[in-house]
Amino acid sequence: MLIIKSPLEVLDMAEELLYEGKAKKIFSTDDPNVLLVQYKDSLTAFNAKKRDEKAGKGHLNNVISSWIFTWLAKKGVESHFIKQVDETHQLIRKVEIIPLETIVRNVTTGSLCRRLGVEEGKKLSRPIIEFSYKSDALDDPLINDDHAIVLGWATEEEVATIKSIALKVNKLLTELFASVGVLLVDFKLEFGRDEKGRVLLADEISPDTCRFWDSKTHDHLDKDRFRKDLGDVLGAYEEIWRRLSARGMDA
Ligand code: UDP
Repeated sequence: MLIIKSPLEVLDMAEELLYEGKAKKIFSTDDPNVLLVQYKDSLTAFNAKKRDEKAGKGHLNNVISSWIFTWLAKKGVESHFIKQVDETHQLIRKVEIIPLETIVRNVTTGSLCRRLGVEEGKKLSRPIIEFSYKSDALDDPLINDDHAIVLGWATEEEVATIKSIALKVNKLLTELFASVGVLLVDFKLEFGRDEKGRVLLADEISPDTCRFWDSKTHDHLDKDRFRKDLGDVLGAYEEIWRRLSARGMDA
């Protein structure tokens, strides 16, 4: 049984720093099945070749990601998320991360356009799912289902589960963001296996990992403001948080 502690107790629970990534730190807790995540203020792009710090970014991504995981749970999509404990920390279930980045695209942009020479900003007739192999050393190369299965990164069944959850998340989030005047252009998901081997949605869902365009103006409200030096990165993240919190969890 998972015992949830108060925020102060939880911060005391942070035992050992297990991992420090580009945007988050992960700590062990006194419960072997629970980890504490700290969202950092650092911003990186192009496999960390471009870096910056924005005070308050970690807080915004933590509240946005916590809000989205909580809302998805209400809609029947389970994730590793347990609860937000303070401005920059959340508790998550420990999972073994499957080394795939699952990208879902609704509108053409980014690496899809660079790679395939297709026009920017075209609505796709149905979502496209892509997989990358999670490897900083190899720059997260694009792979297909066969690579993932035959090279042993995920089973055939896990790949099918990942695709089905990714499409469900896409449908739910597309509707959610449309209701706050935001077009969900594309996003990246990660998945892990819990102690029973079940596939769970993991990592984060935030303006760092999604492309959000204002529905009317197509203004970028996400990390593309940093990637493309468009300015006011934090203002865009704040705008996403303002719209979600004004909307509320109901419905
Ligand atoms: N993405 C991500 N982490 C990555 C790569 C991509 O969160 O390491 C997200 C990115 O924010 C976008 C989507 O996945 O919402 C598709 O990104 P794309 O492949 O177009 O990459 P980019 O153009 O950023 O190189």
